[in-house]
Amino acid sequence: MEHKLTVYNTLTRKKELFTPINSPHVGLYVCGPTVYSDVHLGNVRTFTSFDIIYRYLVHLGYKVRYVRNITDVGHLVGDIDEGEDKIAVKARLENLEPMEVVQRYTNGFHEVMQLFNNLPPSIEPTATGHIIEQIEMVEKILENGFAYEVNGSVYFDVVKYSESENYGELSGRKIDELLSNSRSLDGQTDKRNPVDFALWKKAGEQHLMRWNSPWGVGFPGWHLECSVMSTKYLGENFDIHGGGMDLKFPHHECEIAQNKACASGNPVNYWLHTNMLTVNGRKMAKSEGNGFTPEQLVTGDHPLLEQGYSPMTVRFFMLQSHYSNTLDFSNEALKAAEKGYKRMIEAMDILPKLEVSEKSDFEFDAFAKKCYDAMNDDFNTPILLSVIFEAVKFIYRVKAGEITVSKVDKEGLKILMEAFIFDVLGFRKEVASQTDMSDGLMNIILDLRKNAKVNKDFATSDAIRDQLKEINIVIKDSREGSTWEVI
Ligand code: AMP
Ligand code: ZN
Repeated sequence: MEHKLTVYNTLTRKKELFTPINSPHVGLYVCGPTVYSDVHLGNVRTFTSFDIIYRYLVHLGYKVRYVRNITDVGHLVGDIDEGEDKIAVKARLENLEPMEVVQRYTNGFHEVMQLFNNLPPSIEPTATGHIIEQIEMVEKILENGFAYEVNGSVYFDVVKYSESENYGELSGRKIDELLSNSRSLDGQTDKRNPVDFALWKKAGEQHLMRWNSPWGVGFPGWHLECSVMSTKYLGENFDIHGGGMDLKFPHHECEIAQNKACASGNPVNYWLHTNMLTVNGRKMAKSEGNGFTPEQLVTGDHPLLEQGYSPMTVRFFMLQSHYSNTLDFSNEALKAAEKGYKRMIEAMDILPKLEVSEKSDFEFDAFAKKCYDAMNDDFNTPILLSVIFEAVKFIYRVKAGEITVSKVDKEGLKILMEAFIFDVLGFRKEVASQTDMSDGLMNIILDLRKNAKVNKDFATSDAIRDQLKEINIVIKDSREGSTWEVI
């Protein structure tokens, strides 16, 4: 494939040329949501960033298998190895079956993804749907000597693993520091060492989500599902693994360890991590109380919101920053994004109606190159948007008669802008644009005038013409019908 797509690989801490294992096929795995509550805008940012990555790979012609899981068991409160399951806590609070909680928030998640125009993945596997495979993986890790069983639970032996592998290779943590910094266990868990992590946990009497296993009744550890489902659908060595930066440690570090304990070689060639959406510099999170839901965002019903913002305004706001940078929420930035989005869509409505001439003031090839250069540079959407806005400006200037565009350039521009704005950046038209609306309104008025004429009500037809003229709209009558023009 002819391109020079480079991606920042968190594992090597370098920008690298993207070379798939089995081109044109690309395997992409992204950690999905834990479905115990409504997703907030921070979650949306991460999934939107990967939506762009998926869309661009598809645009380049790759056949992408995009796997994004649903975590519906095993993620414990506080992201640690002891305690209650986030979903079970919610089920108890709301007096629901755990699977009712899962269904409710999975549905909600899908609605939000559609609202923001994020494409569905090719496969959306659930942790509870892969319990057998998870048990098999635990057995394999035990067999290979990288885990131990105590009292019905199985733990990954990080110390043993570190003898031959580098636990910390992704997150940059050092095993010696992890060992010396970890608190003593005070007999509270069965772990040999605090750095070890659970592969399988024995379920207490109260635990709602439970399955039979060779070690008794229990449930899988949080990190296990992603190792199992990514390799099941993408192979032991696949192209891209993504997630939010906060998942790098321990979640992704543990995933690598689990995979390497089962099969030799690097499980993932490119690790991509998205940065956080913040509010006044602090990560948006449910626990911080600063996370508003997409519904609140649209209605404006939250103390942090000065008004409601449409989903495409929010998408524009997000894409104005690179996925690897933090993005701080602000009403000012969203209001600016609202204007930007409208101006861009308006230009797309004007473009097909532009008059063409022999001479073109547009440098089409340079424009196309700049679009691809931006996206090939680690999916740089802010640069791409600024390039698109050069074209937007050009369109308005042609409309104003200041410069001209040739037929070929106009057609090329239309194809390319549609591809980048709608297919790659995933925008959609939200409401009728100003141009569409005025066209529609004028058609209604001209029809009314035509009817008046047919009924020989010339007073009305003349009044319509004269009053439009007062606001600089001139009607031209001909045998084919009436047209209008702003003078
Ligand atoms: P969770 O449901 O908590 O596992 O989160 C789902 C995804 O959203 C993960 O990839 C997280 O890294 C990501 N995420 C959580 N909070 C934020 C935030 N404030 N900004 C961006 N991504 C986030
Ligand atoms: Zn995961």
